Amino acid sequence: MDSPLTRHGIHSWPSDEETHEFSRRGLDILVVAPHPDDAELGMGGGIARWIEQGKRVGILDLTNGEPTPFGTVEKRAAETSQASKILGIRWRWNLGLRNRFVEPTLEARHRLAGFFRVVRPRWIFAPYWDDAHPDHIAATQLIEAARFWSKLSNSDLAGTPYHPERIFYYYCIHLKIVPQPAFVFDITSTWEKKFASIKAYESQFITGRESLDPQPIDRFRDEAAYWGKMIGTKYGEPYTTKEPLGLNDLSGLL
Ligand SMILES: [Zn+2]
Repeated sequence: MDSPLTRHGIHSWPSDEETHEFSRRGLDILVVAPHPDDAELGMGGGIARWIEQGKRVGILDLTNGEPTPFGTVEKRAAETSQASKILGIRWRWNLGLRNRFVEPTLEARHRLAGFFRVVRPRWIFAPYWDDAHPDHIAATQLIEAARFWSKLSNSDLAGTPYHPERIFYYYCIHLKIVPQPAFVFDITSTWEKKFASIKAYESQFITGRESLDPQPIDRFRDEAAYWGKMIGTKYGEPYTTKEPLGLNDLSGLL
């Protein structure tokens, strides 16, 4: 069976040496995304901010996201690389599942749980569970199940038993719904990075959409401004969680 850190596709990095170093120390945050671009859309502002604050942040894309109408595997990989540079992501991996065919199978759970045990993220971020895109719905179920499996002892999973402390959900939703978030993160200072990282996915949001008014790309700013308005800042990013949030200090509250 493949090791969880087998390289799939053409955008898994960093080098073996750096991968080993990240695994040894564990990641603070692992964003799990069905497709390259979901992490940027849902939480590019938070990712950039937490990296600036010195957190070890990684992204695990479950698939390569292709085919799409204007993309190719190579183009999408180049866009992913560019977006990662903009956000400061040094650790990004691809689990090698097939785009459009993501299912929460036992085999996929085994691979992802092993991945969690090797990479040891403190906090996992998954897509919001209610969605129109079957890959997104399946991804969330898969992530929740793999998180549970990753703590099992006496198993044939890779690594050693480990339980990520928390799972949060980011919004990259293909339904016209507005679920109430558990918190909205102020991304005013990193909005430009987030916007640039989304624009890096030219094949997904710009090519072939030139005649649309408004441009799809501008909708992302509208959304960020809407969430910012909810918390009294210029831009915001919504998140939720099924488990209660614990606080021991109120100093971070806006
Ligand atoms: Zn997606």
